[in-house]
Amino acid sequence: MSMEYRQLGATELQVSTIGFGAAPLGDVYGKVDVAETTAAVHEAIDSGITLFDVSPYYGLTLAESRLGEALVGYRDKVVLATKCGRYGASEFDFSAASVTKSCEDSLQRLKTDRLDILQAHDVEFGDADQVVNETIPALRRLQEQGKVRVIGITGLSLKNLAAIARRAHVDCMITYCRYNLMISDMDDVLLPVAEERGIGVINASPLHMGVLTEDGVPEWHPSSLEIRAVGRQVVELCKARGVSAPLVALRYCLDHSYVSSTLVGMASRELVRANLKALEFSIDPELLVEIQRLVAPVHNQIWDSGLAENRG
Ligand code: NAD
Repeated sequence: MSMEYRQLGATELQVSTIGFGAAPLGDVYGKVDVAETTAAVHEAIDSGITLFDVSPYYGLTLAESRLGEALVGYRDKVVLATKCGRYGASEFDFSAASVTKSCEDSLQRLKTDRLDILQAHDVEFGDADQVVNETIPALRRLQEQGKVRVIGITGLSLKNLAAIARRAHVDCMITYCRYNLMISDMDDVLLPVAEERGIGVINASPLHMGVLTEDGVPEWHPSSLEIRAVGRQVVELCKARGVSAPLVALRYCLDHSYVSSTLVGMASRELVRANLKALEFSIDPELLVEIQRLVAPVHNQIWDSGLAENRG
């Protein structure tokens, strides 16, 4: 099973098509066993996963600290991506001073002298003018100083990401829960500007943040009961067909032609192994039609997690 790599938009970076989402290392999906997450990081690297995504927000710096420890001796094998500007559920600061300090703090926690990717985190919660006129220029200064290789923005609101990407020069973007078996509006809203400007796109949460897993979603999950019920039906359907829903869901995302990498959260070697199977898996077209029929009533339904979808 060999990993595939893609160029991240017009940047110099090559990334593995499966990316390691390190949010679970911050205990955001439940308390993890640190020895196990460390082993998962190492096994992922040994299996060819290069892209590692984290943020100071995940576990309020815990995920970064744990990832930094796990990467000792492995730093040169990975493309290390972190974020700035979001520091709590409702704590945001996209000022130049804040993102510059955040970069320094992340470098320390991640035990490195250069980040490969630094992105302003969940920009729909900030002021679009500030992101364009202050945050992104500050990230470019960090790039000029050699502290960061490429810079970008992340968020759930596609309209907001697209609007900022039209006004400012960014290298890459992460969006989440906008392209997977449950939803595909990323293609209509974000892809046109990304393709036009050569902006790399990283797609996160192929399992719709847990909706497409056997265990279902954590308590804080913003999805409607209807979405959760459909997710459960998809999981059951896949089980009846002898395949796991996460495998189908991840493969579906890997088949996207523009996305450079799909970020999936993995806190154990078992999950790393399960997700690597997607590299050799292809989806039965009849199963896909059945899944799409089940999902149709809620397809493209987005949730309100405090974001202003129409802002910016
Ligand atoms: P996900 O959909 O990838 O995963 C949800 C849950 O499913 C996690 O607990 C995960 O460990 C578990 N899981 C993974 N593989 C599985 C498998 N094969 N079988 C069963 N369960 C499995 O959602 P996520 O973890 O929220 O997102 C992935 C990553 O994307 C995050 O870790 C983070 O790095 C990134 N992300 C970024 C943003 C942003 O920039 N704004 C937002 C969301 C996610």
